Amino acid sequence: MKILISNDDGYLAPGLAALAEAMAAIAEILVVAPDSNRSGSSNSLTLDRPLSVQRAANGFYFVNGTPSDCVHIALTGMLEFVPDLIVSGINNGQNMGDDTLYSGTVAAATEGYLFGLPAIAFSQVHGGWAELDSAARVARELVERRFEALPRPFLLNVNVPNLPYAAIQGIAATRLGKRHVSEPVIRARDPHGREIFWIGPMGAARDAGAGTDFHATANGFVSVTPLQIDLTHTGQMDLLRQGLR
Ligand code: MN
Repeated sequence: MKILISNDDGYLAPGLAALAEAMAAIAEILVVAPDSNRSGSSNSLTLDRPLSVQRAANGFYFVNGTPSDCVHIALTGMLEFVPDLIVSGINNGQNMGDDTLYSGTVAAATEGYLFGLPAIAFSQVHGGWAELDSAARVARELVERRFEALPRPFLLNVNVPNLPYAAIQGIAATRLGKRHVSEPVIRARDPHGREIFWIGPMGAARDAGAGTDFHATANGFVSVTPLQIDLTHTGQMDLLRQGLR
């Protein structure tokens, strides 16, 4: 098995090293990650300048671009093979509910998925890397499951509570919850007197009921949510047709 690994926290992030080590125990790996923290970059591709790829001492490749850039260039010319799986993470903090739209971690996996490859994004519920070994072990075990019952490609979003491995309650198939709108921006003046805005943290969970990723992880379970990318609101199609008559 050949696994392409990326993240959005950058090639120096502890979560990437932990994920790469866990995957190297079961597969041939290649790591292509952003040269800096690109959290919140969503699915953006860099189109206005060329991208360069450099190799770090530990063998990781790093790119002056986004997570999507990394996977995109890996799959469109950099690699001489097609990976069997794309994994992303382990992110420094949760990607649940609406986070998945903004997340670069999920985006790196999504890019692989859009190329027709199975992909899994991994995040720890809380930032700061507590119990990272535990999350890496969960990542390895999930990849080893291979999910033969799922049609290819699949896109899974995994969030792991920051718990010792023995304290994890199990693995739950979940749907995405929903968040309240983000915290207000910080509005201030820069040292030159110009008005500035600083986007605040994500809002608290609004739909965190049973079955959601929020609910599962709050109860000590690893949440695994199968994602799809078609944004079509099928339920509104008939109403729209009526409105267009
Ligand atoms: Mn991140």
